[in-house]
Amino acid sequence: MALKLFNTLSRSIQEFMPLDPAGKKAGMYCCGPTVYDFAHIGNWRTFVFGDLVRRTLEFKGYAVTHVMNITDVEDKIIKRVQENKTSLREFTGQYEAAFLEDLKTLNCLLPHHTPHATDHIADIIALIEKLIARGIAYKAADGSVYFSIEKYRGCGCNYGQLLKLNFDEMRAGERVKSDEYAKESVADFALWKARVPEDGDVFWKSESLGEGRPGWHIECSAMSMKVLGESFDLHLGGEDLIFPHHEDEIAQSEGATGKPFVKHWLHGAHLLVEGKKMSKSLGNFFTLRDLLAKGFTGREIRYALLTAHYRETFNFTLDGLHGARTALARIDECLGKLREAAGAPNSDSARTVGVQSRDVQDCSGDTLKRELQHAETVLGAPNDLVARFTAVLDDDLNISAAWAAVFEWVRETNRRLAENSLGATGAASALAAWEKVDSVLGIGTKSGADVPAEILALAEARTAAKKAKDFKCADAIRDKLKAKGWVIEDTSKGPKLKKI
Ligand SMILES: [Zn+2]
Repeated sequence: MALKLFNTLSRSIQEFMPLDPAGKKAGMYCCGPTVYDFAHIGNWRTFVFGDLVRRTLEFKGYAVTHVMNITDVEDKIIKRVQENKTSLREFTGQYEAAFLEDLKTLNCLLPHHTPHATDHIADIIALIEKLIARGIAYKAADGSVYFSIEKYRGCGCNYGQLLKLNFDEMRAGERVKSDEYAKESVADFALWKARVPEDGDVFWKSESLGEGRPGWHIECSAMSMKVLGESFDLHLGGEDLIFPHHEDEIAQSEGATGKPFVKHWLHGAHLLVEGKKMSKSLGNFFTLRDLLAKGFTGREIRYALLTAHYRETFNFTLDGLHGARTALARIDECLGKLREAAGAPNSDSARTVGVQSRDVQDCSGDTLKRELQHAETVLGAPNDLVARFTAVLDDDLNISAAWAAVFEWVRETNRRLAENSLGATGAASALAAWEKVDSVLGIGTKSGADVPAEILALAEARTAAKKAKDFKCADAIRDKLKAKGWVIEDTSKGPKLKKI
């Protein structure tokens, strides 16, 4: 089944077809953080959405190149650097480190490339020079270089691909130097901002452009094309970036190369907190760290952020986080029981299936089919979860239906476990199915985190000592575990760790 995604460019759901003629590789660029503060929960919704897209593509078998830029020079950063009387690198470095740590806390896969704007100044300058050479960019009296929307449109190019713009209201010759402006004030925008005293020592020297620094929009055009080529498959971001940031990225890139920039544009919707737009004055402004301090885990926050469809406004609430905790506990309990069942000696049904499987090899085609069907009935068709999950994910990442499939599977698995009809093989297959699904959801399991690695290592050492019949050593390790607050019980299913 093919993956279908909503493309902001066509305003319709389209089958994802990569540019790679072999159909195997997919290049994806996500607008990354502007590292001037800790990312808030609204930002995290977008980054977790990006992670979902990446994991889905990999689940579908694509070899993904995931690029996420780090915006480490722009208007807001420079203002903060001046206020804090620090250096650009020192200031942005701390927030970049925090961002990467938070990314890990939410179990987002690290992008393959995280280019920094300040490491790509030469590429940015080269791109601006190209636009000047093509007559689409010009140097204004203030020394800054601007993108000419009129010249761009004069070349037959379309400004306003992601949203409709009313050019009749535009006044010729108007310019905007700030990176952020509304579509009502569409104007020539800055590519290179000439050095001004407020910039302090944040500037670069360019022979052709003069002393200055890049605008925010050109940074993304230069870095994305540098890593992924002049045309690539997917570009993601929050819906607030559609205009002007993404529209300007298209104009700069297509203006310079004359080629289509991006095939699929994906945008994540806004997030409300407790039913209102997040703001510091309302007290509903949360960074990830604020929520961790309230006792929630990255896993619970990730789950909550992944419950709503990415194109729907999501109401993030603390109640919702408590709900996430309950939902995850249901999954964990089921997985715990499955692990126990999978590790247990073969129950009757599992042994029966094992015998049948061996016999099947010698059977004719028809008998084989019949036997396999029978085996599936006994095992509970664990692949159903993967098939159902894939089908709904293919439908523009229908995540709520994906969770519905997961919880239906949990219910059904619990039922089978209770009536003891799954067996060790069935339980192992069910776990394998879960692992496939979790490669997309990325919520993992709690068990590993529950027992510290040091305790697990001690338990393993004790098992090894017992095997070697060194009971003295095994007892000493048991005492050590006790001193650290853990008891080890030998059960018929192997040793079990319990917290005292
Ligand atoms: Zn960007």
